[in-house]
Amino acid sequence: MSFFSTRGGTAVTASQAILYGLAPDGGLYVPAMFPPISHKKLTELTQMDYCQRASAILRTYLEDFSIPEIDAALAAAYDPKKFDDPAIAPMKKLDDETWVLELFHGPTLAFKDMALQLLPHLTTLSARKNGEEREVSILVATSGDTGKAALEGFKDVPGTSCTVFYPTDGVSDVQKLQMTTTGGDNTHVIAINGNFDDAQTGVKTLFGSAEFNAAVNEKGKVLSSANSINFGRLVPQIVYYFSAYADLLNAGAITVGDPVNFVVPTGNFGNILAAYYARSMGLPVGKLICASNRNNVLTDFFRSGVYDTRRQFFKTTSPSMDILISSNLERLLFECADRDGELISTWMKQLKESYSYCIGEQRQEWMNSVFNAGYADDQQCAEEIRTRYEQDHYLMDTHTAVASHVLREYREKTGDMTPAVIVSTASPYKFAADVLSAVEGKEAVEGLDAFECSEMLEKVTGVKVPQQVKALRSLPVRHKAQCERDAMAEAVMNAFEGK
Ligand SMILES: *Cc1c(COP(=O)(O)O)cnc(C)c1O
Repeated sequence: MSFFSTRGGTAVTASQAILYGLAPDGGLYVPAMFPPISHKKLTELTQMDYCQRASAILRTYLEDFSIPEIDAALAAAYDPKKFDDPAIAPMKKLDDETWVLELFHGPTLAFKDMALQLLPHLTTLSARKNGEEREVSILVATSGDTGKAALEGFKDVPGTSCTVFYPTDGVSDVQKLQMTTTGGDNTHVIAINGNFDDAQTGVKTLFGSAEFNAAVNEKGKVLSSANSINFGRLVPQIVYYFSAYADLLNAGAITVGDPVNFVVPTGNFGNILAAYYARSMGLPVGKLICASNRNNVLTDFFRSGVYDTRRQFFKTTSPSMDILISSNLERLLFECADRDGELISTWMKQLKESYSYCIGEQRQEWMNSVFNAGYADDQQCAEEIRTRYEQDHYLMDTHTAVASHVLREYREKTGDMTPAVIVSTASPYKFAADVLSAVEGKEAVEGLDAFECSEMLEKVTGVKVPQQVKALRSLPVRHKAQCERDAMAEAVMNAFEGK
């Protein structure tokens, strides 16, 4: 399988797309086609464990990897010692039509582990296949969860380093501590004075800067990305949509071919894009429901066909979705525009220069035939956490609750009761203060720090505090670097020099 840039660039192999992350023309790599998965194959997946399911999907894209290479990488990534549930991505039933796909059982308690436990293995294999002997230096912009998951994945992996930029005041206390206490000799964590979009735009600018790349190369290093702009991040995410479907088949909730709706808490559009890719491969999907928080630029986009970032940026209780520029939407636009790279370049230029673009009525109709979109503000999110806890005895985090609320509204509006899967992206203990406040009321959290909130939440709900959260309390803070938005290049160089 070859890969092309969304802006029309030339073809590369899977390992090259993974190794270099972003295409030289600034576009994102997309597969030449979507390999079909038949109903027969879907049925076979029901008899497989998670690694076997992943292998079946991955090998259709990663054609320049051998099957033993893929299987060894998967076994290392989804090691049962690193995930606290043997199913890796277990499904929980809320009621006859509603399920939760739990993607937070990995080491950093967010769905980013599903891809970032695997990516370092794919990266080092890709380096070897392409004779790349320089250090692969991963640069990451994070809205909270990618950073820690990337650090944990790349920590002490020979031939790599990992540098993370996070927005100083844009992440939860637990998220910040998870990053700043990271061990490893090849990890760097830098707080940027700005929001996630500033961090992401800054990192993208560094990738596109010839001068910066030359300076990095001079140090014997080559840049790569662990953000969801990297195809290596997307392909492991396709797997769990198939896995969820196989689990529903096993539970007798559907028969093969029946449609399932997925509702996905969305920020950078990577997770839901993987669902779209699964659908393009033949997974029977009804609607893909895109759930946003108050930063609802995507809701407006799906409803109007206009993407417009000229709006206020809000800090919400679902910080990993506090994003106005959703990078992976570019890959969906590419499909929507019949793979017309020139048109994508034009839209992206308009976005950069005048902060908006319009896809036109026909394309908007195409979008709405597959997607639906909605949002929840912080109060609706808190109410949803409480309702699910009281009615279904299920404790969800703030991001998952946004999706749950949007599903509820979607069903009320459309009457569509197709079995639906709420994609759960984080453990409630990553956001314990907001979850506790939702369950017990604002007064309950007054004066408590993140750890005390966790203990209280465990006491009230009986859901155990994960070991990783408890351990944070006694870990020393190792990373204290800070920088301004316009000084990211210098900050990376300082990190490389150990300053
Ligand atoms: C990253 C993240 C999201 C958003 O996922 P995208 O792929 O960026 O759309 C949602 N919830 C949590 C908890 C996350 O960490």
